[in-house]
Amino acid sequence: MRYVGKPIVSITRNEDIIFAVRSCLDQLKIPDLTGKNILLKPNVGREALPNSGINTNPEVVSAIFNYLKERYNAQYYIGDSPIINTDTKKAFEKYGYSELLKDENIHFIDLDDKPPIEKEIPNGKLLKSIKLTGYWKDFDYIISIPVLKMHMHCGASLSFKNLKGLIYKRNKVALHHFQSPEIISHYNKNEKSIKIKELDVAIADFANLVYPDLAIIDASIAHEGMGPSSGNPVRLNTIIASTSSLAADIIALAISQPTWTLDDVPHLKLISESLFPSLKSFKDIKTIPQNIEEFIHPLKPSPESITIKYKNVILTDIDSCSACLSTIFKLLENNIGFISKHFTEKNPLRIAIGKGIKQSDLYSDMFLVGNCTSSLNKYKTGVFIKGCTPTESIIMQLIKENLKVN
Ligand code: SF4
Repeated sequence: MRYVGKPIVSITRNEDIIFAVRSCLDQLKIPDLTGKNILLKPNVGREALPNSGINTNPEVVSAIFNYLKERYNAQYYIGDSPIINTDTKKAFEKYGYSELLKDENIHFIDLDDKPPIEKEIPNGKLLKSIKLTGYWKDFDYIISIPVLKMHMHCGASLSFKNLKGLIYKRNKVALHHFQSPEIISHYNKNEKSIKIKELDVAIADFANLVYPDLAIIDASIAHEGMGPSSGNPVRLNTIIASTSSLAADIIALAISQPTWTLDDVPHLKLISESLFPSLKSFKDIKTIPQNIEEFIHPLKPSPESITIKYKNVILTDIDSCSACLSTIFKLLENNIGFISKHFTEKNPLRIAIGKGIKQSDLYSDMFLVGNCTSSLNKYKTGVFIKGCTPTESIIMQLIKENLKVN
């Protein structure tokens, strides 16, 4: 990550995704990885259907692994630590990783298997220390392989955000739960046009400690709209790679959100300011090929409100983490018939998630989902649903009970 001069980003597009990966990596100067312990870190944060663009495409990861294996006699690991209530192995298998995991030259690891290690965050503004996967010291080289996706909380989720999976189990949610009006008002006073949240500052802090040595962004099937898990897959057949993760992320944005600047993905703006002040836009990067216009394919950004998609649902989401958010997305998708029958724009289904919900946000017909809202139970307004995160079926059961239907 610590490089000198203009970083290089290679970008390729081809229907043959193995060819796209290989020709993309051919353009980079990857150091000699012989004898190293290499972590391939795709984003497999959820149990999802293959090709939905929610997780990293296993075909891309296989192509990367085979490319490296042919060149470097090394120890290869693949793993993730998904959102709460998700079985890591099942998430990989369901998304189509079974064949790759059978290869005896790559070791699958659930990053939550070993007891965590606590690390201090150098220069952390909000995040002072964090519990990382117990495997942390086992890796010499980390390859972040995110899927290019839009994200409701962060603008977009790319190679830095993907490394949140190295945080041990539920400690990930700590990044969502900071409340520091002083620090935030300081940022937002200086940055009039953008809204920086505690989550953005915490992700940027985390990048002071954990960053990818190599970023390979999977835009074979990107995820547009309501990310991280309720948008639409878009086949782009594109791979973006760089030994500078920020440069790779900037080019991923340049082809998918050509009108955006780093202001639209505030954690990247903060990472740029604190770690790479000379790296702010695609103009600061050398791309291969030089002209990337042919790769531009604007994606729909994630709406800030779920009501844009579901007019009869009002979701009040203040400082939730992806687990509750994804559960609500899934619940809406899977029960849209029922919800349309029982709720209207005038009489919407009101749901609240997240640590930041206050008494003034409450309605008597609101469902307060998740333990983060438990402190509001004392106001006896709305229906509290305990769990972290409560399952979709428990939430639906309580909605039905409240409506007095089966
Ligand atoms: S209750 Fe929901 S938002 Fe809160 S930590 Fe648990 S999963 Fe995250």
